[in-house]
Amino acid sequence: MASSRRLLPCEPILPTADAIAPYLRLIDKARMYSNQGPLVRLLQQRMATLLSLPADTLVAASSGTAALTAAILAHAGEASTERPLALCPAYTFVATATAARHCGYEPYLADVSAQTWTLDPDQVTRHPMLARIGVVIPVSAYGRPLDVAAWSRFQQETSIPVVIDAAAAIEALATGTMRPEPNVPLALSFHATKAFGCGEGGCIVWSDPALAADARQATNFGFGDSRNSTAASLNGKMSEYHAAVALAELDGWAAKRAAFARAAQAYRAAAAREGLPADTLMAHPDVASAYILHRRRDARSAERLRVALDAANIEARLWYGHGLHRHDHLLNAPRDALPETERLAGAMLGLPMGCGLGAADIARVVAVLAANREEIAPETETLVRELSVQG
Ligand SMILES: *Cc1c(COP(=O)(O)O)cnc(C)c1O
Repeated sequence: MASSRRLLPCEPILPTADAIAPYLRLIDKARMYSNQGPLVRLLQQRMATLLSLPADTLVAASSGTAALTAAILAHAGEASTERPLALCPAYTFVATATAARHCGYEPYLADVSAQTWTLDPDQVTRHPMLARIGVVIPVSAYGRPLDVAAWSRFQQETSIPVVIDAAAAIEALATGTMRPEPNVPLALSFHATKAFGCGEGGCIVWSDPALAADARQATNFGFGDSRNSTAASLNGKMSEYHAAVALAELDGWAAKRAAFARAAQAYRAAAAREGLPADTLMAHPDVASAYILHRRRDARSAERLRVALDAANIEARLWYGHGLHRHDHLLNAPRDALPETERLAGAMLGLPMGCGLGAADIARVVAVLAANREEIAPETETLVRELSVQG
């Protein structure tokens, strides 16, 4: 039966108290609560195995943002007067810029590629500000797989460190559609809204163990083997309690992914029943399991649909807002012209998704899409786009 309850853009389900309890009892026994305790070490091992990584190349962190901050500090260091800028895509979650600012960089916002929805290494190679850029932070947008090897080459050619915000990309790494490179650190998020969650948490993947040790040090006050702080750092450590949740999440992850896959399949089936074009929805494996994306012609059309969904008690979300440059705190950030970001940001709606979402609820969402089709012919659409580029 279709319910009339409000459907939210993200309806996470994390491990139950019963699933976490055995790990909590281990904490009672070991009486280690943080600082690379046994549960964090076990999580790092199991997660490395899951992602086919060498030993000691995965560092747990207190959040995705903490992981990204530590990776920037370990790889690029703090901003310098010669290179004060961090090159960020304008289309991303705000945490990308937050992390750069924590390391002393001024985010410089560049436009994204229409294909990858993030920075393009060839474009960035020719960027006029290159001599002022201390770190480049490409984003795996919505967990889409990224060509890490191309960024590794960019880094080798320009000597500018690259740190990848792979917050939502755990599945791309687990399935091998995205492969890490030993000289480029990746930061992942285990936030409740991601496909793998423990409430708040994250990790750094850096497939060279010596460099991963630097990242670990950056999450722990710059301490290595002693209590002498030897490098730029933060407190970004994961606690044993969060590791307990993450281990329980790992135990149930195959089942969770299967449930996500069923929900994505139900979306596709409902869209087909309503006669919507096959490309109406973007779902796993094109994006992370936690997202169902529906791109409208433009921001105005997206807003009309958002209002129609809202009237049907369904909430849709622009996951990355209207672009970084539209956040009050980043209004003055230096930036390029951002035509592709402008095209994408307002038009890309996140529809309700969750591993517990039933077919009836999904049919409710798709019925509203079907009732609000975009009628404009593709030829007209091309013409409108050309005119708006000229104007
Ligand atoms: C979720 C996310 C983050 C932040 O991760 P937290 O764990 O919430 O700190 C950063 N960047 C992107 C692209 C994200 O999707």
